[in-house]
This record gives sequence, C-alpha cells and structure tokens, in this order.
Amino acid sequence: MKAEIIAVGTELLLGQIVNSNAQYLSQELAALGIDVFFQTVVGDNLDRLKQAILTAQERADILLFTGGLGPTLDDLTKDAVAAVLGRSLHIDRVAMDHVEQFFKERSRPMTENNKRQALSIDGAAPLPNATGLAIGNALSENGKHYILLPGPPKEMIPMFEEQAKTWIMQHVLTEEKPLYSRMLKFAGIGESALETELLDLIEGQSDPTIAPYAKEGEVSVRISTKASSVSEADERLDACQLQIQKRLPDNLYANEDVPIEKAIVDLLTELGLTVAIAESCTGGLLMGNMTSVPGCATVFRGGIVCYSNEMKEKLLNVPRDLLEGENAPGAVSSETAEVLAEQVRMVMDADYGLSVTGVAGPAYSERKPVGLVYIGISERDGQTTTHELHFKGNRDTIRIRSAKTVLYHLWLKLKERSQS
Ligand code: ATP
Repeated sequence: MKAEIIAVGTELLLGQIVNSNAQYLSQELAALGIDVFFQTVVGDNLDRLKQAILTAQERADILLFTGGLGPTLDDLTKDAVAAVLGRSLHIDRVAMDHVEQFFKERSRPMTENNKRQALSIDGAAPLPNATGLAIGNALSENGKHYILLPGPPKEMIPMFEEQAKTWIMQHVLTEEKPLYSRMLKFAGIGESALETELLDLIEGQSDPTIAPYAKEGEVSVRISTKASSVSEADERLDACQLQIQKRLPDNLYANEDVPIEKAIVDLLTELGLTVAIAESCTGGLLMGNMTSVPGCATVFRGGIVCYSNEMKEKLLNVPRDLLEGENAPGAVSSETAEVLAEQVRMVMDADYGLSVTGVAGPAYSERKPVGLVYIGISERDGQTTTHELHFKGNRDTIRIRSAKTVLYHLWLKLKERSQS
C-alpha cells in the first residue's frame, strides 16, 4: 500500500512555514505499515493542484491532502479533488450547524465565505473538525483513496488521530489485522547511541517493528505489531519492551508519549517528595518544563531565576569570593552549582534542590567556552552531586539540553529511590 502526501499552500512554497504536517503524517503512515514514496507541495492554484492529483493517482493508492480547506477563495483542495473525480460539492448540514453555532456563541456575524468550511465532496465521508471549523473528507474511487485534512496542525493532528486513522483501518487496510503501537521514551542518551545499542533488534525484527525518532533533547522508539486482539498485542509489545529495557534500564523512563518531567512529577507524587529549582543560564526553562505538567503543584515548591551574580549572592547566598576574583571558580562552576542547589532546597524547604549554571553563548563568559554547563542536585539529608556537561549547538539547543539533563539526573535518583 503506497501513499502520497500532498501539502497545499503557497506559504509552504515561499518558505514561510515548514511542512511539519508531512513529517507527522509520514511517521503515522509508516507506523500503519503504509509506504510513503512521495511528498508533494503545491501552491493554492487550481490547475497545478489538479495536476498534482493526476500525478499522485499514477503512483499512490492513498492521496492524503493537508491544507486548503478554509473559507477563502484560495482554499481549493475540495474543489480540485471534486473536479478531478467529476463530482460536485454540497453543504454538509452538521458541519454547517457547527459553523453557525461557532459565530452565534461569539456574537460575531458569519460571512458568506465561511459556508465553504462546511463543504463536502458528494459521496465522501465527512470528517468532523473537533478543534476548528473546516470539515475534512474521506472517499474511495476506482481503488484509490482520498483523505482531505485541514492545514493547521492543531486541527489536522486530532482529525487524523480520531477520524482519518479509523477510516483508513476500516476502508483501506481491511485485509490487515489492526496495528497496535507503543511509544517508549528515553532520556540521557542520544539517538545514535540508542540506535547502536538496539541495532541488532532493529535490523533483526519484523514484528514488532522498532522505529527510533529524535527531537530536541528527546529520543523515542515506537514499537508496533499487528495482532487480532489487544491482549495478543500487549503480550508481544511487553516482551519487546522488556528486551529494550534490559539494555537501557537507566534511560527508558516511560512506555507512553510523555516528557520526562511528567515521569518525575509521577515519581515525586508516589514518593511524597518535593523539589525546588535555581536557574541561571536556563532562565526559567526548567521551571517551565516542571509546571507544564498538570498536578505539579503538590511536588514543585518553587524556584528562583538568579541570572546575575548579584542575585546569586543576594537571593541564594552564593559567597562573593566563589563568584568573583582572580582565582574564584566563578558563576559557571561546580562549586556554584552545588551552593545554588543546596540553598534553593533549604530556602524552599524541599526534598530536592536542582540547579543549572552555564555558558549558553553565543559569546563566552568568564573565559569559559560556550556549551560548558554545571548542574547540581541536592538531597535533603543526603549529598549534593554536580555534573560538568559540554553541549554543542546554539543558545536554544544548549538551554533545552541543560534543562533536560538536570531532569534526567533527578529522574535517575528518584527511580533508584522508588526501587529501594
Ligand atoms: P484555515 O481554515 O485555517 O484556512 P486550511 O485548511 O485552509 O485552514 P491553510 O489555509 O492551507 O489551511 O493553512 C492554514 C495554516 O495552517 C497555515 O498558515 C499554517 O500555519 C498551517 N499549515 C498549513 N499547512 C501546513 C503544513 N503542511 N505544515 C504545517 N503547518 C501548516
């Protein structure tokens, strides 16, 4: 089964937006066992869009469109598919009610062109839009399948997840057993090191399949199997997960798609412990990560962003002779990371104190290189440990990786504690 993704939008061709929809859909289709051999990008132009459809019909069984479902006259995807298939468009009553309700609730006048968002191709299944107005469509003709999704990722992803995937399973992959997937999440290891550790498993296994993914500061592996029941799938996925876990016990932190801060909040809650944070070069990023997790209020006491030396001294009692002077270790040092972690833990009366101080760049600081970062973890009634880290990349990369690395070291300590 071959699919082609057709992303519609002149902004894509002008480089104003990145085609993240194609990346997302390619991953999802791969997980369903569907090959994507071509990704096409075409502007908001009816003739060129029709041409792209005719070309894709020659080389794919499933044509997946994103974009061009909106209210304006340059939103042409439904018109183009309908024209190529010789069908008409009609207003879908349920979708129209949804659009009218949207404007009524906001006491805003609905303009005529908004009706376009309720258009449906004759004979197509409407795909309701839970997070927006334009409905999607799915239809089959002459052994080819057409799925039309909106452009904004916040509309496209839920529509794919909740509607299109089921439609594909029911109308396209009818001969196949359903696919069950599990996302394994790793920290403290890079994508290439992880792949090396699992290479023989990745290469040797066809079921479950093992596919690694990486994004800034995170590595994931999706394991998938086709099975006739949930219990059959779970049995296979459990065995596969165990094999991977045995190789990377200090890196595999979750078997669902959650960030490491979620695993930390869960462990702190389970252990009845709390954490406080002192940040310098990450400027609140670490606290942002922690507070993005619902339910963190019971475990996160608070934190201090002490960016300047003055604030490190004033708010967290870092001795001046540690920070400044010819032979002082400086703000970017393991000594400062240690004091910051201990002090914030004590000031906030938390069980753990975390700290991060480093050179995010682009200029060096204290004659220290860009990417040099120290982190500290202080435990109530225990030790304070520090780590010296060397990151490559730009300011954002260094800051994101610093925050994720502190979280990783905290997770290791909590895991040990929960197992003892
Ligand atoms: P709308 O109702 O918002 O007009 P639409 O389905 O017509 O939705 P477009 O007008 O093509 O979609 O795109 C709307 C926005 O969605 C774009 O400005 C962009 O922010 C985002 N978008 C569109 N296509 C993509 C894509 N392939 N990848 C990532 N984002 C996209």
